[in-house]
Amino acid sequence: MTAKKHIVVLGAGVIGLSTAVHLLETKRDVYDVTIIADALPSDDRKSGLAHYASLWAGAQHVSFASLEDTLQQQLDRATFKRMWEMSDPSTATSSLFMRLKQTEYYRSVPSDVAQGKAALDFMPDFRYLKEEELADKGAKAGLEFTTVTIDVPTYLAYLLARALALGGRLLRARVMHISQVYSGAFTPTRPVDAVIVCTGLGARSLGGVEDLTVFPIRGQTVLIKAPWVDWGVTLSGSGKHKPGEELLEPPVYVIPRASGEVIIGGAMEPDDYFPLPRAGTTKSILERALKLAPQLVQTPNPTLSDLEALILEEGCGFRPGRRDGIRLEAGKWEDKVVVYNYGHAGQGYQSSWGSAEEAVRLLDAAFA
Ligand SMILES: Cc1cc2nc3c(=O)[nH]c(=O)nc-3n(C[C@H](O)[C@H](O)[C@H](O)COP(=O)(O)OP(=O)(O)OC[C@H]3O[C@@H](n4cnc5c(N)ncnc54)[C@H](O)[C@@H]3O)c2cc1C
Repeated sequence: MTAKKHIVVLGAGVIGLSTAVHLLETKRDVYDVTIIADALPSDDRKSGLAHYASLWAGAQHVSFASLEDTLQQQLDRATFKRMWEMSDPSTATSSLFMRLKQTEYYRSVPSDVAQGKAALDFMPDFRYLKEEELADKGAKAGLEFTTVTIDVPTYLAYLLARALALGGRLLRARVMHISQVYSGAFTPTRPVDAVIVCTGLGARSLGGVEDLTVFPIRGQTVLIKAPWVDWGVTLSGSGKHKPGEELLEPPVYVIPRASGEVIIGGAMEPDDYFPLPRAGTTKSILERALKLAPQLVQTPNPTLSDLEALILEEGCGFRPGRRDGIRLEAGKWEDKVVVYNYGHAGQGYQSSWGSAEEAVRLLDAAFA
């Protein structure tokens, strides 16, 4: 019998944890897995963790992969398949998700939707909205389908618990350079054969990676308690969202969770490192959300103060953007294997399982 290889997954966001779980679920006989990260799911969100994107996501599965971006489509579809299975009412994981009717309104119509070939047409109950259904929303087109939302705090805790239950190990540490990991500095009794870099925005400053094409896309949200909300809605931002360019008008979205809490947003501010909620943005989010979805509040003719009364907390997180999109590839650090899995911007949850599967395939291929 050949000895198992020791794999370090660097990062404990949704990408690192999903990668660790997928490795352990499918290749436990071949690989031992240690997760190393300096921020963990149980950390206090109020202690200045804007850089730990996974804590701040909505999160919903609404793919915005273009028709041309076949890799992103593959990642999103594979993830949806898995999340749909995990959210089946007969499973123990179903309470991590909410299945719901999602409505997407577009201020700027994506080309696939404009051509009547929506990349989202694989979603259950998919249909195009009729023109009369767009009235008063300020939208030029729209879609409706069924999807899942993810109860983020509980889901991250579940992923970590699952990785540990499958035999994974966990170490909290700040890594300055990937050479520290290979040197055995963190795991002195167990030499490291490969590192999977799932550090999100941290890839910008991590020695040995230092990917300066990685940048923050600042998001801001408001968490409210509104258990009567069992539908999701988005009004897309206007203008082209090119890397490094702010949208003319930010998106507005409502994402309910199984817990009865609802995330409303949003903001999309590239290269903005301000780590705390801005009062003006919170007010604008509330105004825009109430206009799009007055049913957020149960009283007739709801006002801003009615919505404010439901607030639990304000949030701010940095999506890990990357100029050329997600980095999913294998390489070498000196003579050791390294797999990169970062740069998921605003789509880390909805492409998490697909990215994990691809990272494990790259790892296997690198050792073959
Ligand atoms: C407001 C908001 C709304 C969002 N909504 C959605 C949504 O609806 N759907 C969706 O799919 N996505 C959404 N996202 C995007 C999603 O949150 C991210 O794509 C995803 O969380 C990225 O995960 P990650 O694991 O790559 O990075 P992170 O969650 O940032 O985790 C990075 C990990 O790496 C560790 N790390 C980094 N550097 C080092 C180092 N040097 N040493 C040790 N550890 C290190 C950190 O400690 C952390 O554990 C949203 C994001 C925001 C901010």
